[in-house]
Amino acid sequence: MLTTNTEFLHAELMDVVRLFGPDAPDLSHSFLYAENNFINTVIAEGREFAYRDEYPCADELEFKRYAKRFAKLAVYNALKTLTGKTMPWGALTGIRPTKLAYGEREQGRPFEPMFEKFGVAPENIALVGDVLAAQEGIYGREEGAADLYIGIPFCPSKCNYCSFITADIGKTEKHLENYLAALEKEIAGCAGLYKNLKSIYIGGGTPLVLHTEQLRRVLEAAEPFARRGIEYTVEAGRPDVFTEEKLALLQEYGVTRVCVNPQSFCNETLERIGRKHTAEDIYRAYEMARRFPFEINFDLIAGLTGESAAQFEESVDRAVALTPENITVHTLCLKKGARLKEEESFLEGGDMAEMIAYARSRLYAAGYVPYYLYRQKYMAGNFENTGWTKPGKACVYNIDVMEEITDNIACGANAVTKKLFAGEGRIERLGAPKDIPAYIAKIDKIISDKRALFGRA
Ligand code: SF4
Repeated sequence: MLTTNTEFLHAELMDVVRLFGPDAPDLSHSFLYAENNFINTVIAEGREFAYRDEYPCADELEFKRYAKRFAKLAVYNALKTLTGKTMPWGALTGIRPTKLAYGEREQGRPFEPMFEKFGVAPENIALVGDVLAAQEGIYGREEGAADLYIGIPFCPSKCNYCSFITADIGKTEKHLENYLAALEKEIAGCAGLYKNLKSIYIGGGTPLVLHTEQLRRVLEAAEPFARRGIEYTVEAGRPDVFTEEKLALLQEYGVTRVCVNPQSFCNETLERIGRKHTAEDIYRAYEMARRFPFEINFDLIAGLTGESAAQFEESVDRAVALTPENITVHTLCLKKGARLKEEESFLEGGDMAEMIAYARSRLYAAGYVPYYLYRQKYMAGNFENTGWTKPGKACVYNIDVMEEITDNIACGANAVTKKLFAGEGRIERLGAPKDIPAYIAKIDKIISDKRALFGRA
């Protein structure tokens, strides 16, 4: 439990307390600001910890930002002393550490001293530096630049760790035709919302769970946006849905990148997490996709139920041996809605540090570089998700979305459109309903709200 005399800090401070797990001691926090000094006092277990940080703030916005930062740091340092534990990202709890790093650079400072002050582990500071280096030439804000996202929230079965809205297609097929019709309408309604479209991303769910003709409808709807040479990803998905016919269709419509999502190459794990495919299917799908001129991404997850460090490391080795252009290493993250969350049987940390360290050293050694990263709440071991790429093969869409440097025009149930107002330093979000029938019923309003957000009502 945590109490504070400053209400707007409470949620941020609770994020820090959560890092230390359910056994974190009760804390009483108080905050005072005087003559450019942020004074934070934490009392716990009969001890008092007092911290004073000096920073002259230009305005109210900056004051709030630094008040949160220094208060979090105070609580983190007190908990570190009391528990003897440190966290890989120290007192940083946000989703996008790289955005903080860019923020420091924009202020004319190197980002490293701030990360050090916040207790970020040296290897993570180096990781952020490598991500920023890999984004050179891609990272940049440009008025009217956007990416188009199209969501297909259907899957062959539901994985036990999944909290996404997707459902087993056997249960939701009845909505599919109406969903596709609404999606076609929404995609058409995106015309004229941008000056420069940088990429298209059809994500899931599992887009290739659609039958060939259904898939054609989605590609046909996106066709007016798919100028020649644009990066065009289809998160094809689980290996059991790959067919030559569907891949040929993707090629016909100009798709440049596909995701094959093994998650693990261990058959026992795949069965345990509720996927209906084997490691052999991954090889089959990869070889099939390789016959086309696509760049390929693999997703792997560290910390899947019952999986040992050795099994995860073997998956990393097998993925690297196949030489896809991109490999994304996720850390298991359990949110509300995941079956596994209800069972509460996931790996709490344990071998995670070893797994993440192994993946990093193996990928660096194989010539991959980290090119984007993000964190989520409730990640096992408080680690991160990192996208790795062969040099020159970074996915522009992932960088744009993670760094929030372009508008994201998103279509489909649960899709979140983001409009940047760079001059005002703010982002406006517009989320579509999660529920598929509600999305279908409200499609006209979704389209008009989106066009209004972009000043095109
Ligand atoms: S394939 Fe992905 S979206 Fe579909 S159920 Fe599994 S984790 Fe969820």
